Amino acid sequence: MTVAVFGAGPAGLMAAEVLSEAGEAVEVFDGMASAGRKFLLAGRGGLNLTHSEPFDAFASRYGARQEEVAAWLRAFDAQAVRDWAQGLGIATFVGTSGRVFPVDMKASPLLRAWLHRLRAKGVQFHMRHRFTGWTADGALRVTSPQGEAPVRAQAVVLALGGASWSRLGSDGAWVPVLQQRGVAVAPLLPSNCGFDVRGGWSDYFMTRFAGHPFKSVAIRFGAFHRKGEFVATATGVEGSLVYAVSAALRDEIGRHGSAAFELDLLPEHAADQVEREVARPRGSRSLATHLKSRLGLDGIKLALLHELLPHEALRDPVRLAAAIKALPVTVTAPRPIDEAISSAGGVRLEALDEQLMVRALPGVFCAGEMLDWEAPTGGYLLTACFASGRVAGRGALNFVRAGQNLVR
Ligand SMILES: Cc1cc2nc3c(=O)[nH]c(=O)nc-3n(C[C@H](O)[C@H](O)[C@H](O)COP(=O)(O)OP(=O)(O)OC[C@H]3O[C@@H](n4cnc5c(N)ncnc54)[C@H](O)[C@@H]3O)c2cc1C
Repeated sequence: MTVAVFGAGPAGLMAAEVLSEAGEAVEVFDGMASAGRKFLLAGRGGLNLTHSEPFDAFASRYGARQEEVAAWLRAFDAQAVRDWAQGLGIATFVGTSGRVFPVDMKASPLLRAWLHRLRAKGVQFHMRHRFTGWTADGALRVTSPQGEAPVRAQAVVLALGGASWSRLGSDGAWVPVLQQRGVAVAPLLPSNCGFDVRGGWSDYFMTRFAGHPFKSVAIRFGAFHRKGEFVATATGVEGSLVYAVSAALRDEIGRHGSAAFELDLLPEHAADQVEREVARPRGSRSLATHLKSRLGLDGIKLALLHELLPHEALRDPVRLAAAIKALPVTVTAPRPIDEAISSAGGVRLEALDEQLMVRALPGVFCAGEMLDWEAPTGGYLLTACFASGRVAGRGALNFVRAGQNLVR
């Protein structure tokens, strides 16, 4: 074999595709019984392949790593993702939010067509084969149900994913293996994750509202200010709007032990309008009836006001109106990485050259979520995995074409 690819997720499969299209002998190894488990899960809620916004805005979603990721995207951008899917017979469409989905929203037809095309190009798959490091004489150490057998290749692409949803195969067990080889790895952290609220919810709120959505609300936290939706959980909050601010909340918790965001329960109402309506005399009507009839505020939103505000504030129209527009919600911990949509941290980009080859391990390339970048949901995760997979695949191709060999 010329190139061994470890990890049959979107990044590894892309690397295998580049190499096999160039006519190289590629073998793909994965610890799970079948390929692309997380990719298939991603398809369950509607596979968001990429985003249709302009290139610069798109690249900015990668925050501190936008420059490096933009270089990968120049090789394979959002339009390239759509063309590639079309090439597999999967038409895509742009949703109202600018997000791009397959017409049928699913991942399985796309993955099936992709694996079929890869096999037709000669890519060989070895499932239930885990990469565990290197042998003393420098071969790749691989364990399978048959035991351990060394694998030799001219170059290797590692696309082993992050550490969320470990039951789907990506468990981050590669971190110490690479660190032992002198590769700098930033700790894997939850990204696009939920949070626990300070002190937990009261029993009443948890039993009555866990799983219920906050619709049409807005979150303000530092420079972040956005409308959207999220969900109350048994211990806190999760969902798209919370994921969007999750990196900033997580980092603030890392620095100070907690983070407080402001929740606008009525973003469609101006502050003075809310104040006016709350202050209207309510006679013998209850506060709940008053807020419902004047502002349409009820259910989980009203319950949250009761949950977080002291009695005096609920009775004071000025304080109550202010809280409706900017209710401080304090979170003290991100949920565990295993529950997160994705991982932050990973192989530091400084440890790699521009072809994504590990500087300390010539012939070893890395791609996908195992690299140290993060992005919000919106198709940015998959696009960077695809794009980095292509860069690493091309890097491995250049490496073997130059007649070089894995040096360990
Ligand atoms: C619920 C959910 C929904 C999501 N929805 C979206 C979405 O709509 N849009 C989007 O852009 N992103 C989405 N994502 C994120 C996206 O799925 C991931 O970012 C992407 O799959 C990462 O690709 P990857 O190839 O880097 O890693 P992975 O897909 O994690 O693949 C890595 C592979 O490596 C294998 N592996 C790991 N360790 C070893 C080892 N030691 N030896 C051999 N094999 C190993 C694993 O079994 C796995 O198959 C979602 C994620 C989740 C959890």
